[in-house]
Amino acid sequence: MKAEIIGRTIDKLAINAFFFGTGKPRVLIIGGVHGDEKEGVALSYGLMAEFAKSYPLKFGLTVIPCLNLDGFLKNTRQNSNGVDLNRNLPTNDWRADYDQKRFYPGKTANSEPENIALVDFIQQHPLIFIISLHSYKKELLNINGDCNPVDQSIHEALNIKLERDMGYPTPGCLGTFTGLERSIPTITYELLRGSNVLELRKRHLYPIVSALKLLNDQA
Ligand SMILES: [Zn+2]
Repeated sequence: MKAEIIGRTIDKLAINAFFFGTGKPRVLIIGGVHGDEKEGVALSYGLMAEFAKSYPLKFGLTVIPCLNLDGFLKNTRQNSNGVDLNRNLPTNDWRADYDQKRFYPGKTANSEPENIALVDFIQQHPLIFIISLHSYKKELLNINGDCNPVDQSIHEALNIKLERDMGYPTPGCLGTFTGLERSIPTITYELLRGSNVLELRKRHLYPIVSALKLLNDQA
């Protein structure tokens, strides 16, 4: 495993990326885009512990376990500028207006150092798949782009609903930026909010690893 600092948060903390496998990174797993969604950070580290023991994939994979470290430490959805990083990406549908403070998209698209680091990473690597780990009141896989067979495999293993649409507008989100506008299939993976770390690992770790193995021949 190699580690690299890909950027700094507003509070100057290092944003770490961890690289597994050989070859160029083809798959990206992200946690902690929303700082108060600790479940995704915990599962990111759980996956890293598993990959450090044995790595079953034929392609390179990168984990950014906690993008919004400032928010993670302050237990806020947003970063230290009060920006919702998943409304701030430079998509065609980015907009400055917002109805709730928690969705504040920033003054301009891609204004935040955490997103600048993420966007640079995405532009510099030939990714074929992204999973962004969030948490929500119910489990859900929000699908952007052609996520088959990974989404189907997780759906069949865990009976988690697949949704193309969250049911409310999400301008400037990662699913649109990569899944719809850059043809990198992207799953916004909603874990159950409030789950404990052991339960999360028990339930999700192997289904995710098995699903990613299905990409072995594509990568
Ligand atoms: Zn979230």
